[in-house]
Amino acid sequence: MGLLALGTPLDWPETKPLAEHIRNHGITQFLNTWKRWKDRSGEGLLWGDEIEMFVTSLDDSVPAAYLSLRQSEILEKLKNVTEDPELQKYKPTGCRSIPTFHPEYGRYMIESTPGCPYTGSLKDLLTVEIDMRFRRQIVHSHLLPNELPITLTSWPRLGVENAVFTDPPTQPDPEHSASKSQYVGQLITNPHARFPTLTANIRQRRGSLVDIRVPLYVDKNTVLPDGVKAPLSGGAVPPPAKPEPGTPYIHMDAMGFGMGCSCLQITFQAFNVQEARTVYDALVPIAPIMLALTAAAPAFRGRLADVDARWNVIAASVDDRTEEERGLKPLKDAPFTIPKSRYDSVSLYIANDARNKPEYSDVYAPINEKVRERLVANGLDNKIATHFAHLFIRDPLVQFSETIDQDDDKSMDHFENIQSTNWQTVRFKPPPVGSPIGWRVEFRSMEIQPTDFENAALSIFIVLLSRAIISFDLNFYQPLSQVDDNMQRAQQRNAARANKFWFRRQVFPEDASSYDLESRPVSPPNANTPPEGQDEPLSPTAVVHGHANGNSNGHGGKSPLNNLRKSGSFSSCTSLLEEEEASEGPEFAQMTLDEVINGRGEFPGLLGVVNAYINSINADVQTKCEIRRYLDLIKLRAKGDLVTPATYIRNFITTHPDYKQDSIVSDQIQYDLVKAIDEVERGVRAAPELLGKDYVGSGSGTLNGARSHAA
Ligand code: ADP
Ligand code: MG
Ligand code: MG
Ligand code: MG
Ligand code: MG
Ligand code: MG
Repeated sequence: MGLLALGTPLDWPETKPLAEHIRNHGITQFLNTWKRWKDRSGEGLLWGDEIEMFVTSLDDSVPAAYLSLRQSEILEKLKNVTEDPELQKYKPTGCRSIPTFHPEYGRYMIESTPGCPYTGSLKDLLTVEIDMRFRRQIVHSHLLPNELPITLTSWPRLGVENAVFTDPPTQPDPEHSASKSQYVGQLITNPHARFPTLTANIRQRRGSLVDIRVPLYVDKNTVLPDGVKAPLSGGAVPPPAKPEPGTPYIHMDAMGFGMGCSCLQITFQAFNVQEARTVYDALVPIAPIMLALTAAAPAFRGRLADVDARWNVIAASVDDRTEEERGLKPLKDAPFTIPKSRYDSVSLYIANDARNKPEYSDVYAPINEKVRERLVANGLDNKIATHFAHLFIRDPLVQFSETIDQDDDKSMDHFENIQSTNWQTVRFKPPPVGSPIGWRVEFRSMEIQPTDFENAALSIFIVLLSRAIISFDLNFYQPLSQVDDNMQRAQQRNAARANKFWFRRQVFPEDASSYDLESRPVSPPNANTPPEGQDEPLSPTAVVHGHANGNSNGHGGKSPLNNLRKSGSFSSCTSLLEEEEASEGPEFAQMTLDEVINGRGEFPGLLGVVNAYINSINADVQTKCEIRRYLDLIKLRAKGDLVTPATYIRNFITTHPDYKQDSIVSDQIQYDLVKAIDEVERGVRAAPELLGKDYVGSGSGTLNGARSHAA
């Protein structure tokens, strides 16, 4: 998270009158960047992940696992690790630089990124897990003996009433805390002025506490509120991800319940702005798919939920819309209703591509018309202008009094104020000021996984998918209403195994059969092409829309994609396909996660195109085999041969001896769960249903023989 400089934060009544000033200057700042960068090309692939983790403090005598609120102290020490000569000694082979550590919303959270981004080298993919493990080890070596770094998406007992869930213990303070929550106190929030201000200003703009509700998992002995009747959960058909009126739910009332979850994000740099727009659009339909595949959040506020993922929780946790904007009152002060929270799925595609048909942007996305007109008047095309005009319907949430007036040539802070508080599934990131960093796309829907093996596998998969999208000019467009529908489906209990998702049937370019994809150069046919046997750069950046760029050569022949299409082994599906086609139309189908990832009939699946991409590049067999190990996780999880972390955690809870079939996740259960997750990560506790039988953990979890930095 790019922290704004520390200063004196303004409260909501002070910030609101500045909104127009901030938006105006934000657009000026963006236009300055646009002018500098709109025609620049040639940025290579650089990419990196962000891992968020919790620090837990274990008390074996209770026993209980608490959230350790020592973020500030720990980060203070981690600030200097880049220069730590001692640490250089432990830098694992393949890891190019010491990782960096960042604050996050929860006062028990640490975010980490690689010290410098990975390059477009295929071999770099094999350093991702090493880098992630190194980060975990560095954090671990800065913790107290009873603390552990844990990559859980939601902390099961955060906010349980009349219970201790933090170390030191905290009390809710509905009078004075920024959230006014009845469940969590001020101390769970990062003390940096930005975070309490964000919390308070969201609540004040909204006009009430945030109101988060997830369906409760109803078990035999679950005590339901008076007057609420509900069938037992656990049947084949889970309820919708948002509770229906009259059904039991888990209630949460603070930003921390959502922003205090951990996730996995991937950012990559594009060749130029066009490529960034293309990849952005293609990843929008992938976001719900990956949410389902990574689902890891089955418990909130001490109860089992009847959802598997965090998304609706975090969306509701920062929903600053007024009652008018939410459509609960006739419009008076607000210019329009706003259908979504600031944290939500994408509502507009942005690429200038004939395949980006207007009818695919079929959800209501209100725009700031003044902003759109200004951007168009400055030479931006309508699609990209509309994207920013949609982001700029929002008010700024945090402004420091010292930085109200900025040099719009040298600062992007006002732009970032709006941009960085539009937390969508995919983010289009313009270049920062005064930096060589170019146009980037960030993929943001994934949940954090218990092990770095999984986190690395998912990161590698997304990066390779982005390369396949570019290299094969893939078309994933589907109506955004379907994507939104998929977002809800993705969160339902057991979605990865049991649900279906809308997806496009035909993902290859229409003219693909007329030219040979395999012999298209996957990297520009220039001096950058490595000699045989050398590491192949991953980035086929110059070949977006190969046909338009003249890179297609028109020869027939053996395309990896043609091979996939010609595969005759799926003919038995034909009648089924025809049946579904009748109800779904020829363009889109409802597919299981297995089908979306592993393919069905002529549809190659996301892994099919990734495999075709890997086959098309000139890499050594060993590297390809090592990458296969990661892709197998994706394949097997999508198939249902491996379970999601959500299913693993849910099963752990429901089969725990202390579980009383009452939906309650007790201290004892959470303590054992946290210990189990740590042991699974280190490889000292087998979890073949989650990781397969060949998983090798990180061992002791600490730096090999390193001194403890905690003292
Ligand atoms: P934010 O919190 O704003 O999303 P972070 O700085 O935490 O961003 O993380 C950004 C990620 O992007 C990191 O993994 C980093 O390695 C990666 N990254 C850095 N520079 C580039 C670049 N030029 N292109 C692509 N990715 C980059
Ligand atoms: Mg983060
Ligand atoms: Mg970050
Ligand atoms: Mg964040
Ligand atoms: Mg961030
Ligand atoms: Mg990020």
